[in-house]
Amino acid sequence: MEKYDVIIIGAGPGGMTAAIYAVRANLKTVMLEKAAPGGKMLSTWEVENYAGLGKVSGFDISEKMFNHTQELGVEYKYGDIANIVDKGEYKEVIDSSGNVYQAKTVIIGSGTVPRSLGVEGESKLNGRGISWCAVCDGAFFKGKDVVVVGGGNSAIEEAVYLSSMVNKITVVNILDTLQADPKAIDQANATGKISYKLGYEINSFNGDTKLESVTITNAKTKEVEEITTDGAFIFIGHIPETTFAKELGITDKWGYIKTDEKMETSVPGIFGIGDVIVKQLRQIVTASSDGAIAAQAAAKYIEEHK
Ligand SMILES: Cc1cc2nc3c(=O)[nH]c(=O)nc-3n(C[C@H](O)[C@H](O)[C@H](O)COP(=O)(O)OP(=O)(O)OC[C@H]3O[C@@H](n4cnc5c(N)ncnc54)[C@H](O)[C@@H]3O)c2cc1C
Repeated sequence: MEKYDVIIIGAGPGGMTAAIYAVRANLKTVMLEKAAPGGKMLSTWEVENYAGLGKVSGFDISEKMFNHTQELGVEYKYGDIANIVDKGEYKEVIDSSGNVYQAKTVIIGSGTVPRSLGVEGESKLNGRGISWCAVCDGAFFKGKDVVVVGGGNSAIEEAVYLSSMVNKITVVNILDTLQADPKAIDQANATGKISYKLGYEINSFNGDTKLESVTITNAKTKEVEEITTDGAFIFIGHIPETTFAKELGITDKWGYIKTDEKMETSVPGIFGIGDVIVKQLRQIVTASSDGAIAAQAAAKYIEEHK
């Protein structure tokens, strides 16, 4: 069985920063990831709020961070983590293939996945016109009309991204205002391609083999409308990836991990970082900051438990 000082679950910005701090503290570290290094940065078109990098694509910042971990010698392995067992002075991390890793500390940076609406037609037309990733799928809708669902920064920024390729965008938001910041809204308005349906709920996605229209209802008047569309992009928030940590009793009722100021959970030696924890602001810089704090705290924990 592999034995480590620190196992990091997830190679998003949080996990990769934790890994950098952990190896620099001379901890035997492995980063386990079930997809590709970068996490949600990989599905982000452009980042312009990470100090020092100016405007950078989500792919480039992912690659830069991952290369940095590799230059410092972080061990990186594929692993879809299914369970964590607390054995006191060490923890066992088990992946879905049954591989068991042992470590003195575990840092959970497994992030979140996009939320679905749960309405009629959504799962049937997933990948047939409905998408949760503008960067991945936007190019399929060149010159076409699309609907963007949501009113926060992600929705509006991704609508701006889509505007460079699609013909027309209708943003549908359940609230009668947008929650995105003013700069994003100004950028959206400047495209001249975006119109809004505010205060509308999505009833259903319609079409047999591909999306053809979206039915919406005005939340106040209950008036029903149908928007003819080729695509729909859904940006209505996220769900924490913590099913593997359920038995540890470290999550709140929504599944987010509760931590203290050292990023430590109620189980000594198990830390949570980034989007997966209870926090105010879910961003690359805050995930990275959590990662740094957790790695330092893990080093201290190991020192104190020698
Ligand atoms: C569309 C969009 C645009 C955004 N734009 C910006 C922006 O401009 N600026 C900004 O600062 N932030 C932005 N964000 C937010 C930012 O991407 C996140 O805050 C950040 O990626 C969180 O990092 P993380 O490391 O906590 O988690 P994530 O990036 O979610 O990474 C978690 C990783 O854990 C892996 N994982 C999950 N479960 C398991 C498991 N069981 N086993 C192994 N691995 C697992 C996942 O595959 C993933 O790679 C944006 C987010 C979205 C969705």
